[in-house]
Amino acid sequence: MSRIVYVNGEYLPEEAAKVSVFDRGFLFADAVYEVTSVLGGKLIDFAGHAARLSRSLGELEMENPLTEAEWLAVHREMVARNGLEDGLIYLQVTRGAADRDFAFPEAATPTVVLFTQSKPGLAESPAAKTGIKVASVPDIRWGRRDIKTVQLLYPSMAKMAAKKLGADDAWLVEDGFVTEGSSNNAYIVKGGTIVTRNLGTEILHGITRAAVLRFAREAQMKVEERPFTVEEAQGADEAFVTSASAFVMPVVAVDGAVLGDGTPGPVALRLREIYLEESRKAAV
Ligand code: PMP
Repeated sequence: MSRIVYVNGEYLPEEAAKVSVFDRGFLFADAVYEVTSVLGGKLIDFAGHAARLSRSLGELEMENPLTEAEWLAVHREMVARNGLEDGLIYLQVTRGAADRDFAFPEAATPTVVLFTQSKPGLAESPAAKTGIKVASVPDIRWGRRDIKTVQLLYPSMAKMAAKKLGADDAWLVEDGFVTEGSSNNAYIVKGGTIVTRNLGTEILHGITRAAVLRFAREAQMKVEERPFTVEEAQGADEAFVTSASAFVMPVVAVDGAVLGDGTPGPVALRLREIYLEESRKAAV
């Protein structure tokens, strides 16, 4: 079965339907979608899906690439070209392809994909006659930050929010405590003691974090792994973040409060030096 898939204005056999590996939908889950039912070759609740799509795009500061009339025409064309009687139309719009960066690209062309799924007898589901069973699970969407997934839309949005506030990056706060940076682990230093969030499902277990804490302890620096608040951070002597791409990056202000004299602190600079030196030596 070869379906006809819509990709950026073209109707293609599914084997030929492709999007870039640099697409932000693939790299950051920076995308929205809708699923519309088709019964007897007609679209069910189309206006509702079109309205929600428009709202979702707006919330992500993405242009709606098509008008509602154009969306309707594309949906109908997909029904016709695929001879769809009963089934679903899946539609996805991504922010488009751009070099990988948490910040939204200045100019990117949205990627638009639609495909159909044939579900003969969709409205006559046997399950509707018997009913279904449910099991309860904790709603932790998304509370497994210890898994390095590509579900990066919120970190990307947080970085943009921070930029709008005149900052370079965001520190994420949950229940009053800093968890981590948008794409790095967060640290404060007070009276010579380094404080960083303890490991758990709330943060990514940074590879750089592990190395930096090891080097800090080896250099007889005191380390406390525990939650800290923004207020505590604002009263700290210095702060920094760590990641594979930024190594140890000094932080000089938190929500506008300048730390110390507003220049990179000695602990951050020392740890950056040690980290780079030791890591270069051990580099493979
Ligand atoms: N926290 C988050 C949320 C991250 O995305 C990253 C890096 N991508 C880190 C921490 C730092 O991890 P690492 O030192 O392994 O790069």
